[in-house]
Amino acid sequence: MKKKEKGRVIKENWDEVSIVKKQKHLKVDRILLVIFCLLSIIAIIVMIDNIIKELRIKDAEKKEISQLEQLEAKKEAEEKRLEEEQRQKELEEQEKISKRYNPLNEEEFDKMNKIYGHSDKKRIFLTFDDGPTKSVTPYILNLLKEENVKANFFVLGMRVEQNPDLVKREFDEGHFIGNHSYSHKYSKIYESIDSLFDEYNRTNNAIKSAVQNDKYNSIVFRFPGGLAGGKYNDMKHEAAQKLKEQGIANVDWNALTKDAEGAKTKEDLMNNFIETIQNKTSIVLLMHDAADKILTYEVLPDIIKYCKENGYEFQTMFDAIGRE
Ligand SMILES: [Zn+2]
Repeated sequence: MKKKEKGRVIKENWDEVSIVKKQKHLKVDRILLVIFCLLSIIAIIVMIDNIIKELRIKDAEKKEISQLEQLEAKKEAEEKRLEEEQRQKELEEQEKISKRYNPLNEEEFDKMNKIYGHSDKKRIFLTFDDGPTKSVTPYILNLLKEENVKANFFVLGMRVEQNPDLVKREFDEGHFIGNHSYSHKYSKIYESIDSLFDEYNRTNNAIKSAVQNDKYNSIVFRFPGGLAGGKYNDMKHEAAQKLKEQGIANVDWNALTKDAEGAKTKEDLMNNFIETIQNKTSIVLLMHDAADKILTYEVLPDIIKYCKENGYEFQTMFDAIGRE
């Protein structure tokens, strides 16, 4: 009986151990489950965090792109505005040039007729004939630029065709470009009204092409040898009338350095200038920038200095007729 009792106790003990073991297993399982759940939650949190981060980055990128696009659009609009402004300016400039070269009206002819008369404001029109030439014109242009002086060039069509770049420079630097015939050969120019107009037109076209501006027109003509006198006197006056009918003025001079009449030194030229200006308040000074007239360039600083010291304003034919 004792043995039986012992056996039962042992069995009971075994059962107890087994229950304890089972309970322990259950505990471990629970812990593992909790750990698994925790890990899963952490993994989900990390995943969500990553997704949020990614979304944020994408959002930031989007914002950046949109900002860049906005900047780009702004830049484009600004460029367009500037372009439009530039176009407007060019149009205005073309308009201004076009107006400058319109045929003269009566009032303007009247002003041209008074060019040798009294002027309340002392003024001088420096005029250079028979150019442009490579040996003289660029030096004169350099000096005028240095002195900030505007002048008038009465060019020959044949020389314009030889030196278009110099005419372009005269034009671009704000000087007045007048027409002085194509060939300068009296017998040819003054043969008939038609031949004079032919010389005028050829020269006008040559200048237009040289200055690369079809708005240009020779609104002032200077007769080679001057309007008055000589055997072509009548013909020249008739031509002057025909030119006027087309709105084209002509101009001679009322002072000269005699640079085309054999003056040999700078001093001679200066003396001739002083002698011929006398006490005039409006001076149209005849000079030449033909190939052999380097003396004209050499005396020019003295002439400019004299005019500045004596209160003369340097003007162009545009000023004479009251155009901008
Ligand atoms: Zn001449």
